[in-house]
Amino acid sequence: MIPIPTAAMLDAIRSRTGYVAESYVKLVNGARRDLPDDEVLKDLRAHWTKELSPTWVRLAGDLTTNPAGRKASGEEMAKGLPLIVETLNRLHGWVPGIARNPWFDGLIQRIEKEVVDQVVTGSPAAVESLKRCFGTRADKAAARFPAILGKFKALHAQTGKGPAMGFVYGPDLPGTMRALAHGQGEKAWVEVGRRLLNNVDGDAESAAALLHEVSHTLAQNYYTIDFAYRAVNAHYLLIPELAEVNAANYEQVAVDLLGGKPGLSAAELDLLRGGKGTLLEQVHALMSSRVIRAWIQAHNLYRDSKEKPLPSSSLSGLAAIPDGPEYKEVVTGLLDEFKKQMDLLIDRVNKHLTLGRDNALLGLKVVSTATDTAITLPPGWEGGKTPDQLAVALLEVVANELWPQITTPGAIPPAYSSMQIAGYASSVQIHETPGVRELLKLYFDSITRPAKA
Ligand SMILES: [Zn+2]
Repeated sequence: MIPIPTAAMLDAIRSRTGYVAESYVKLVNGARRDLPDDEVLKDLRAHWTKELSPTWVRLAGDLTTNPAGRKASGEEMAKGLPLIVETLNRLHGWVPGIARNPWFDGLIQRIEKEVVDQVVTGSPAAVESLKRCFGTRADKAAARFPAILGKFKALHAQTGKGPAMGFVYGPDLPGTMRALAHGQGEKAWVEVGRRLLNNVDGDAESAAALLHEVSHTLAQNYYTIDFAYRAVNAHYLLIPELAEVNAANYEQVAVDLLGGKPGLSAAELDLLRGGKGTLLEQVHALMSSRVIRAWIQAHNLYRDSKEKPLPSSSLSGLAAIPDGPEYKEVVTGLLDEFKKQMDLLIDRVNKHLTLGRDNALLGLKVVSTATDTAITLPPGWEGGKTPDQLAVALLEVVANELWPQITTPGAIPPAYSSMQIAGYASSVQIHETPGVRELLKLYFDSITRPAKA
């Protein structure tokens, strides 16, 4: 990490005395040369390069080989250096603290003023967004927003007071995950990842992601769960009874009111809902929902396995595991592999899967690259299957692309085969608590209407 320049150092840089400016140029160039590479950093680098480049270009005379050969003045350098140092430190893994972080505090203020106050006073934009996200349950959902804000403030007040209190930095959260809630009520806390603390996705998405997680932490009977995320518009396909308890629908209201990525318009929504959505949209939403549940279970199992030995039955449907306390670490290791495979599957299904049709095809066409999969259906492929049966069938197709049957001698197989991974997602309801299982059944069955192609 590069030391943060103090006021005295910046004075020396401004007046170009004591070789301070020259020393910082060496530190900055050193940090720029050996940037680590991981999945968060890829997006982070793109984000901060955008933020940084105007300053960067102005300092180019000193910091890079500048064809124009102009050196930055001491004044220019002192002005730009703090941002450059902070940015490079972030790219090397430093994250700002959460307690007494003005940016983080600002997100909570925006949630209060621009989201919750609007919902409570019934501003036209809020009414419209609530209607789209919750349908006939809009009023019931609106009533939950002040409770979410109250919990948000309570968690914020606890932040920094202990290891599992309030909002806590979670260095181990996967790069695609912005935050993760633990527990409900008094003991709840929220882990916040590097992606969110670096605001890679911008204020609206960051604030909405926090609201999503906080909504999971309300006390008994008032907390939300995850049936469907915003990916592939799956959350818009929930019936109002399920939308009311689904976190992403609250998140969508926050995104709408904070001016983030626009949700569906009333006309688009009308096309998607009420039996008018295309079969492929329904199928994709159901695939996404099944994978989300399986992914959450994988993460929960992994976390639980670190705390106590898991009974072998907890992995039923996947593969046999050794039973007994002496195998605790082995089982945690296995679940880490399982979790990583689910990370890959959720990323593919939610963000990098395209479903299409081609009437000229005779059979299913599947094309995959390292990052994307496109599946094209021939006419009549769906036969008499329900959208959920099709979702299960296509999950197996996607899993086969990610973990193909190995035929090359010497190739390293994944911990779990595509059949095992797809099978787990396909029977995901059997691992749920009875309450969630009921709701899932309601969801899977609610999308069974004869769909238009
Ligand atoms: Zn969630």
